[in-house]
Amino acid sequence: MQIVIASGKGGVGKSTVTASLIYLLRDKYDLVVVDADADAPNLHLLLGVEKWEEEKELIGARVATINQDRCVGCGICYERCPYESIKLVEGRYVVNELTCEGCGVCKLVCPVSDTITLDEVRSGVIRKTTTKHGFPLISAQLDVGRPNSGKLVTKEKEWAKRIMEERGIDHMIVDSAAGIGCQVIASISGTDVVILVAEPTPASLSDVKRVYKVVQHFKEPAYLIINKADINPGFKGLYEFAEQEGIPILGEIPYDRAVPYSMTMLKPFVEAFPKSKASKALEEIAKAVEDEILK
Ligand code: SF4
Ligand code: SF4
Repeated sequence: MQIVIASGKGGVGKSTVTASLIYLLRDKYDLVVVDADADAPNLHLLLGVEKWEEEKELIGARVATINQDRCVGCGICYERCPYESIKLVEGRYVVNELTCEGCGVCKLVCPVSDTITLDEVRSGVIRKTTTKHGFPLISAQLDVGRPNSGKLVTKEKEWAKRIMEERGIDHMIVDSAAGIGCQVIASISGTDVVILVAEPTPASLSDVKRVYKVVQHFKEPAYLIINKADINPGFKGLYEFAEQEGIPILGEIPYDRAVPYSMTMLKPFVEAFPKSKASKALEEIAKAVEDEILK
């Protein structure tokens, strides 16, 4: 069983909910966890990870380089680069490595052969560890300016599947990135279930609707958790959306200052403040996940 937790909008508490949900499920179920936000991974921080057992570089991005000895300074590459990644510096055309997307347009349009090369460079790293809670965690980190974050997430899931096979683990939980970009698509593709986390605000509703379109594209069943459920009592949009689309609501978590405090302690809130109202609500949600999804 693969479960993806997604939100569309960032900042709604998806990773804090994920960390606590995993913490509650870990004793009953063998899990492998994937942090699929390669741009800004933070699940390892919430789970108190201090070191990685294995790290591997991913080479996959391409960057253009201009051979200054052959360049005749015509400026065509500068005019045609779709990402404005070529600059004129002291009379020479040079590539900004951080913004170059490796699309190859400059190489195609350059009138002097073998002047522009596209070289493979590091996209980022994939790493794995065993958390102090006993389950394996796979995480990735994209280097600044590098594309291919979807490929990185696909690689993470491959690592997770290998661990599942080696150790006989039944369940993978994937903490997806925010948005609806390639990382989210790579997370949702091939999963069994998606749990959406949203807060009762128009912005969160708008973004959860967008990510739900991705879920529908892959024809996956979806469930909803409403976080900070009491911050906007007059707002019924999330409930109407869930009813309209037939999305079961797994539960509601009230706003609770124990949650941000637990983040400063680098602990899931159910571990740091097990008696808090947010923890009690999440216990009910964990039971619903067991009954509805892991049954
Ligand atoms: S590879 Fe593409 S993005 Fe990079 S410099 Fe050439 S045209 Fe610009
Ligand atoms: S198109 Fe080729 S020759 Fe012209 S400025 Fe660019 S690298 Fe130099």
